[in-house]
Order: sequence, then C-alpha cells, then structure tokens
Amino acid sequence: MHMYRHIVDGRKLDLPIGKVVCVGRNYAAHARELNNPVPTAPVLFIKPSTSLSPMADPITIPSVHGECHFETEMSLLIGSTLKNCDLKEAQNAILGVGLSLDLTLRELQQELKEKGLPWEKAKAFDGACPTSDFISIGQCGDLQTQQIMLNQNGEVRQNGSTSDMLMPIVDLLVYISQFFTLLPGDIVLTGTPAGVGPLQGGDRLALSLSDLLHFKTEVYTS
Ligand code: ZN
Repeated sequence: MHMYRHIVDGRKLDLPIGKVVCVGRNYAAHARELNNPVPTAPVLFIKPSTSLSPMADPITIPSVHGECHFETEMSLLIGSTLKNCDLKEAQNAILGVGLSLDLTLRELQQELKEKGLPWEKAKAFDGACPTSDFISIGQCGDLQTQQIMLNQNGEVRQNGSTSDMLMPIVDLLVYISQFFTLLPGDIVLTGTPAGVGPLQGGDRLALSLSDLLHFKTEVYTS
C-alpha cells in the first residue's frame, strides 16, 4: 500500500494531509433510499487523515463488521484557510476537484444510529476514504453540472448529477467554515447521489467524474 499524497494535474503537492470534512444526505434521493429524512441543514462529519488512501491502490475493506457500502462523491482539495468565510473566499479556496469513496460500514452505522451514538467507527476507520488524483479547478468548468458515476462489475450503480445537490458546493464550504476551520490540505466530500450498496472482495469498480476523471480499482477484504 502507498501513502496517500495530494496530487493535482499529475503533480505531487507539498501540502499537509489534513482532515476530511463530509456532508451526509446532500442529495434528496440518497436520503430517501436509506429512509432518512431530507435534512433542513447539512449533516456534517469528519474522517481523519488516516482514513485517506490513494484511489489508484486496490481498496481493502474490513471483513468483520458487516456490510461495507460504497458512496461515490465529488471531493474538493482546499488550498487556503477558510473560517467564517464568504462565497467568494470559498470559491477561491478550491484548489482541485476529484472523486472519493465515503466507505461506510452500514450495519455498524445503523446500530450506532439506533443507540444515538456517533458514527466514527462506521465511517472514519483506516482506509475509509479512497481518494483520487485531483484536477485543478480551472479545468473543471461548472462544478454544479458534473456527472458522478460508479460501475461495479460491469453494472452502473450510481449515476448522479451535482446539479441535484441540496446545498451547492460553495454554500456548503461557507456553512462548514462556521463550524470547522478548513486548512490548506484539507479535503471536503460533497455527498453521494443515490444507488449506494455493498462491496464484496473481488469487485471491480470503475468511477468517473464527467469526462474529467476516470479510475478503475478492485476490492479486497482484510
Ligand atoms: Zn457520504
């Protein structure tokens, strides 16, 4: 296994590997598929830097905690500090755009939710955030009209558009910065479209963000 490094346009960046701030239920159709209410304010949680692994490596999922679900998400690499920021500062802080998997031990998460306990064991474990190389923001076009796709063993499982986000990306960064200061080298995951499901050892995955990013990987169990 390789150490995760931030890579933008093929270049390794000398930026710290920071925290990963994630938003739950940012697509109404995904909230509904898990029988969750569509939230009135974003549901935020954090994965630590130890959850990051390079998307180019095979994905290793835990074998002992029940189903591990894929959630395919557009991710943002943050290039400057954001604290109580405005929309313009948020826009200017986005250094790169990539794809991440918000791996989730769904049965464990359900158990924790039912007991009113925090989700960390289900979402913040080692390797729970495979993340791709980024492309620089200038090459991306409109962030809110991108297609997110995941294909599992030849079947399309997720095919969503960032136009369906409940809170658009720049507003989301403003909201996050009211709670958590974002630092250069932090990553933000912007939520998953519908179609999440379990991974199995031996799965072959293909992920894409519009015509901008394409990745293939495979899944092993630990
Ligand atoms: Zn997610």
